[in-house]
Formats: sequence, structure tokens, C-alpha cells
Amino acid sequence: MGSGCVITRRLSPDELEVAIELLGDGALVAVPTETVYGLAARADRPDALAAIFTAKGRPAGHPLILHLASADDLGRWAVADERATALAEAFWPGPFTMVLPRTDLVDDTVTGGRDTVGIRVPDHDLTRRLIERGGTALAAPSANRFGAVSPTEADHVLTDLDGRIAAVLDGGASRVGVESTILELLPGRPPTLLRPGGISVVEIEGVLGATVVDGRTGESRAAGMLASHYAPTATVELVESGTSPPARDGDAWIVPSGTPRPDGVRAAQLPADGAGYAAGLYRALRDLDRLGPDRILVVAPTEGDLLDAVADRLAKAAAPR
Ligand code: AMP
Ligand code: MG
Repeated sequence: MGSGCVITRRLSPDELEVAIELLGDGALVAVPTETVYGLAARADRPDALAAIFTAKGRPAGHPLILHLASADDLGRWAVADERATALAEAFWPGPFTMVLPRTDLVDDTVTGGRDTVGIRVPDHDLTRRLIERGGTALAAPSANRFGAVSPTEADHVLTDLDGRIAAVLDGGASRVGVESTILELLPGRPPTLLRPGGISVVEIEGVLGATVVDGRTGESRAAGMLASHYAPTATVELVESGTSPPARDGDAWIVPSGTPRPDGVRAAQLPADGAGYAAGLYRALRDLDRLGPDRILVVAPTEGDLLDAVADRLAKAAAPR
């Protein structure tokens, strides 16, 4: 796998069986989730887990998130305290990952040698069925080349990984469109946010009745926390709503609808509310990037949900490389 000489199949939802067989053979299959497409390998196949890193061009040591069919399986893979059980009950299936103490069942390739493991139950029927039928968890980072924008459609997966993975299971466009919230929950430590996503800190605090600490400052613990990540080829610059930098030839724009922008430039207009904007953001970045602009100027949304997650991903796309 990952040697660049396989034919990548595009599987339709009624070819779920084929996806199960390929995974069982130790092959890699990209799968739809509500956040972004994941590049899946069976958690009990160390060879397949290692192949994920080759296919993505991802540095070794970056941990992978385990995807379960149901919260009932959580205890097999991790040590869940009352906080974790309550959060699983509240937010699974959904765009919410917990980093918890691992059990011995978890392969070291998944944890990158850590004593913790990231786990979630995705809110996508097709993929939950796939996991359930396979009988074990699937490890699945985003199905893009390392450092690139995450894929929210099967076509995006093929753009990045055609010829490097066995198949992509086409489950339509991802509903949320940005990666899951990651919360670290370790014994004797306050709940710590590692990455903002589709479940907000306010929602988490509501379930826990406790304050969530921001773990994004300090040492980089999650791959998604590297300064530059989720980046297209063009330079990305953030533009304050209502201001307009001097226009240049070769500019492209991403704006929430209703925001003025210079005439005659290539632009993607996204919904003004944060959730709608998030759902279209990665597609817009990929589509505009294909046109070869020198820079993509981006105005962030200011209303609705997922504003933290969008701001986080835009800051990473705009970070110096
Ligand atoms: P991706 O699925 O490509 O968005 O990447 C998975 C994210 O989860 C990365 O940011 C990982 O570093 C993070 N992650 C997974 N497991 C752990 C863990 N045990 N500790 C900290 N971060 C983790
Ligand atoms: Mg990723």
C-alpha cells in the first residue's frame, strides 16, 4: 500500500461489502464522516496502520483517532471516567473526540507511543455500519496528503490519494466540514481543549459543569495544532470584514455572503452563518486553489456556530510555512 501503484476504486454506498473486504485484507479505504473524509485502516492491523503514514506522507509519531461504531465499545480501548461517559452520552455519534488513557488493546502506531488514545463515534450511518460489520475500531486521520486541506468529498480524496489507497467509499459531502473538537480528559486534570470543532466549549462545559482549559497554547500535542496546517498551495491572508487590502492580479477571495469584495475577481461566497460557512470552507479553498491564484484572501464569518473552529482553521491556513 502507498507505493503509488494501486488502482484506487470509488465505491458507492451499496458496495459497503467491498470496503469491508478490502479493510479485512489490510488495505486502506477512505471513508465518509460528518466532519471530513477519513483514511481508514483496521485497528488490529499494524501493517495497515503503518501504511496510513506512507499514503499521507505523514511524519511517524503523529497519533491517529480511533473510530467506533458505538459508545458501548469505549471501555475496550480507553479508560473512561464519569466525565468521559457523560460526554459520550451527550455528543456521540458526533464531531467530538476524547483523548483518554489507553488500554493494552490499542496499537502503538495509533497512539504514537503515548499512553493516551483519541476516540470518537462518527455521525455517518454508512461508516458506522462499516465499523460495526468489521468488528473492530478503525483508525482514521483525515484522508488528505499531510499538511493539505482536509477532504470533504470523495473527489477531494482522489485528488490527493489516487493510486495510493485501495478505495474511497463515496458517502456524499461531509455535513460539518471541519475536523472534530478534541478534548483531553486525564485523571486528576481539568478537561483540556486541544482543537475546536463542531462541539463547542460552552456545550462541553454544560455537560461537565466544569471549566474547560484551553490546551492550544504551549507545546504542540496534536498534529492539527502545528502552526501551518490545512493549507492550500496559494498564500492565504485573513482580511478583517469591512476593510479591503490593495487588490492584486492573481487574487481570489472567500467571503461570507453579504460581504462586499472587489469586482471582477475570482471568489467563493459562503453562507454568512458559521456552520454553513464551515461546511463549504474546504471545498472553496480547494476549488479556488485549482485556479492557481497567488493568494486567497479570506473574510471569516462573524455570526452563528463553529466560529472558533473556523477561526482556528483559517489561522492555520494563513500561518507562515
Ligand atoms: P486528523 O484525524 O488528521 O485530524 O488528526 C487527528 C488529530 O487527533 C491530530 O491532531 C492528532 O494529533 C490528535 N490526536 C489523536 N490522538 C491523540 C492523542 N492520544 N493525544 C493527543 N492528540 C491526539
Ligand atoms: Mg488531518
